[in-house]
Amino acid sequence: MEIKKGIAVSPGIAIAKALIIDSEDYRIPQRNISPSQRMTEVQRVRNAFKDAIEDLTKLGESLDESKGSSKISDIFAVHLRYLHDRSLRKQITDMVHSESVTAEYAVSTTLRDIALHFAKVKDAYISERAADIYDIERRLLKQLLGKKREDIDHLTEEVAIVARELSPTQTASFNKKFVKGIATDAGGRTSHTAIVARSLGIPAVVALEDFTENLRGGDTVIIDGNRGIVIVDPDEATIQQYKEYSLEFVELEHKLDAIREKPAVTRDGVRMTLLGNIEFPDEAELVLQKGGEGIGLYRTEFLYLNRETEPTEEEHYQAYAETVSVFKDRPVIIRTVDLGADKYTQSKRFAREPNPFLGLRSIRFCLQNLMMFKTQLRAILRASVLGKVKIMFPLITNIQELMQSKMIFRDVMEDLDEESIPYNRDIEIGIMIETPSAALTASVLARDVDFFSIGTNDLTQYTLAVDRGNELVSTLYSSADPAVLRLIRTVIQDANKAQIDISVCGEMASEPEYIMLLLGMGIRTISLAPPMMPEIKQIVRSVSIEDCNNVVRKILGMNSERQISNYLRNATRKILPAVF
Ligand code: PEP
Ligand code: MG
Repeated sequence: MEIKKGIAVSPGIAIAKALIIDSEDYRIPQRNISPSQRMTEVQRVRNAFKDAIEDLTKLGESLDESKGSSKISDIFAVHLRYLHDRSLRKQITDMVHSESVTAEYAVSTTLRDIALHFAKVKDAYISERAADIYDIERRLLKQLLGKKREDIDHLTEEVAIVARELSPTQTASFNKKFVKGIATDAGGRTSHTAIVARSLGIPAVVALEDFTENLRGGDTVIIDGNRGIVIVDPDEATIQQYKEYSLEFVELEHKLDAIREKPAVTRDGVRMTLLGNIEFPDEAELVLQKGGEGIGLYRTEFLYLNRETEPTEEEHYQAYAETVSVFKDRPVIIRTVDLGADKYTQSKRFAREPNPFLGLRSIRFCLQNLMMFKTQLRAILRASVLGKVKIMFPLITNIQELMQSKMIFRDVMEDLDEESIPYNRDIEIGIMIETPSAALTASVLARDVDFFSIGTNDLTQYTLAVDRGNELVSTLYSSADPAVLRLIRTVIQDANKAQIDISVCGEMASEPEYIMLLLGMGIRTISLAPPMMPEIKQIVRSVSIEDCNNVVRKILGMNSERQISNYLRNATRKILPAVF
């Protein structure tokens, strides 16, 4: 039995056999083969090329030219040219022979060398071809590793997924019926993979460092998403203990579910509105089930992940219409796409930037890809007549970005006017406050928006200069840092002065220890992952505003993150011991 400590990111207990999977970009370890296996590996390379050509040809034939897919056909044609290139194939099979390596390793190494070479060329046209090469690598590896990949798509028994790292896209595709837990070497509490696990309600522990290296597929593991512990090969007594603990936890959850119909009101009668964070429209129903009163953050970029082509306007519209239909006249805040950083579309995922969280991400990406942006804006506006839709722009860092986004939004409104397509002219426009620059200029930004929503995940990472998904610096990442709290306080004060709505939609709003602090600072609306709602509501119902104001007063006199964290935890534990 071995116990590993990581970071708990999604509550609950899982006891299951480990299924180890590759990361989405198939990092292939160098595995040497014996000389007698070389011919088999060479044949595998040839088969992979043949099958990839067949697949791509079929895919090309199925494209509907009428739907503007000629650009995609062009891309496929380029890929087919590479796949038919004999010299490329020879380069790979030569490597298998000369270095006695597996087909996967030879494919990956050869194509990545070529891609890196392309990427370094100053000519933009040539450097962009690197993405094509990575795509071809992915196609070939899909053929070579196909079987292993299918395991995860066609599970028939319960497993605990173990991986070096998972992308948000991979995590979002997990079937909750069979995937009982998740454990990864990499990641942090607010990495998007963690957020998706929490939304799906799958217990998860991340930042386990070298966990995957010391585990065999099929080993029994216990994933304790409450304490951030993973146990490999547990003995019978430990399994029994965990089964009991798991039952208690489920009972507590059921008990909390019972408060669903009750309002989130403090003991002295102050109302907190609980909205849900979702990634997919089918989660809207869960928000309702857990007692949510609307959607405070719809992360629409998930529409783009897990697919080869961009969603059409109709696909956007259908997703929004489905979400709005669940909430009718209650708010649904649709955040425009936040691609980049750790969320890449299939076609962009290999064109990596040196510092992706500081790069072409989010609203910046949209403002440079106007066609794509306008497609989404049209769909949001069309859906605005179906209910109480609001629009929210992410990662605004300055007033120019806001003005530009609003101008494009108005352009799209004019287009719809010309086409006599109805929309809500008074749709509320908000922004996320998730950079220190936005927080520090909140008084200026507030003049041009209807609401702010504080994205504490990014605000914390940018204020403290700590990558939210990097396990090596995860102990430095904390929203309880005095610098982060000061910024949050400023934003709330500026929003109140400008008389605009203010809410918090980062993970801070789903962590029990922050609820009294947020209430004390004046927050009356939060948006969080649906599975966390009952617990958070229970906290709201257990405190008084006076308690919360006292917490804020105390905290303002503290200078260190550790002091603040300990104080918050103790204060919450006193009120609701069961949550820790
Ligand atoms: C945030 O940054 O706090 C936020 C809610 O947005 P996301 O987690 O999607 O970056
Ligand atoms: Mg964010």
